Amino acid sequence: MKEKRIYNFNAGPAALPLPVLEEIRDSFLNFAGSGMSIVEISHRSKWFDDVINDAAARTKRLLNLDERYHVLFIQGGASLQFCMVPMNLLKDGESADYVNTGTWSAKAAKEAKILGKSVKVAASSEDKNFSYIPKNISFSSDAVYVHITSNNTIKGTQWAEFPDTKGIPLISDMSSDIMSRRFDAKPFGLIYAGAQKNIGPAGVCMVIIRDDMLKRVPATLPSMLKYTTFSESNSLYNTPPCFSVYTIRLVLKWLEETVGGLDKMEEINRKKGAAIYSFIDSTEFYRGTAEPGSRSLMNVTFRLPDEELEKKFIKEAAENNLGGLKGHRSVGGCRASVYNATTLEGVETLVDFMKTFEKKNG
Ligand SMILES: *Cc1c(COP(=O)(O)O)cnc(C)c1O
Repeated sequence: MKEKRIYNFNAGPAALPLPVLEEIRDSFLNFAGSGMSIVEISHRSKWFDDVINDAAARTKRLLNLDERYHVLFIQGGASLQFCMVPMNLLKDGESADYVNTGTWSAKAAKEAKILGKSVKVAASSEDKNFSYIPKNISFSSDAVYVHITSNNTIKGTQWAEFPDTKGIPLISDMSSDIMSRRFDAKPFGLIYAGAQKNIGPAGVCMVIIRDDMLKRVPATLPSMLKYTTFSESNSLYNTPPCFSVYTIRLVLKWLEETVGGLDKMEEINRKKGAAIYSFIDSTEFYRGTAEPGSRSLMNVTFRLPDEELEKKFIKEAAENNLGGLKGHRSVGGCRASVYNATTLEGVETLVDFMKTFEKKNG
């Protein structure tokens, strides 16, 4: 079975750690001695309570969150958060700053505008096709929050350091790099992450929200669109995506107990990044699309000399058990997503293939 698995560089849904998949398989018919599968038990049972509480507790430990932060599990993906954030946190007459670093940032700002909210684009990297992360941004002093996308899955850029907002709460879409590195959560009022990139399967979005943000939630919103509905019910107002939450919990357990925490995970991710970027920098054949200081450790985007060669590269890679290397349909080119579950061995195998391909076609 194991030997049939490929090196999976998909951008999302993406590879999950093999020990997690094995544990799911092994406990699938009889979860925690219940005699039922995790997909058959009640979300109101003690069994599921333990699962969701442990997932939240591990999130708090891994990210070093203090007691002001609440971990919520909400359906609708990161895309629902694009509208939930302004609905819940931005009142009429108030304004928020957004930094536009690519497709997902733009979509987040678009939803706020659809709702008629006042949104300012404080900085943008559109002038250079989103190949960099803007620096030295001056934010509006009256902004209620500053929204950023910590890792730009499609453009292959990532904030190496978060901007200084002078006390304005930061909000970040961390869908494609949550749990990949250590960072100081204190400047953040809210963090959200669709699970299917780095922490689990599709179907759930993790939302981390601070007390002062919860106080902003208007009473007039429908229940399912209010953060307080989720914070007051431990994300059990209605049936949560039980299997997705369960898998997140297993991934976080793997991160804590097998990998050894976020410092260790970051060290591994930096080694992976160094292996592939140093190779790309050493050749003319492959060309990274992101500026070196803004490169993502999660999504490595690159081009070959022409589109024909790119097609051939992706096809031959797949024949060599290296899957998911096609760039996003909106930008083309190639992309290797090397999330937490991708091993250094997987990255080295890819680099070896890239070298061989260049020798034959360069
Ligand atoms: C994939 C992705 C999204 C969209 O997530 P959905 O869960 O499909 O809504 C949003 N933001 C970022 C950064 C992403 O990578």
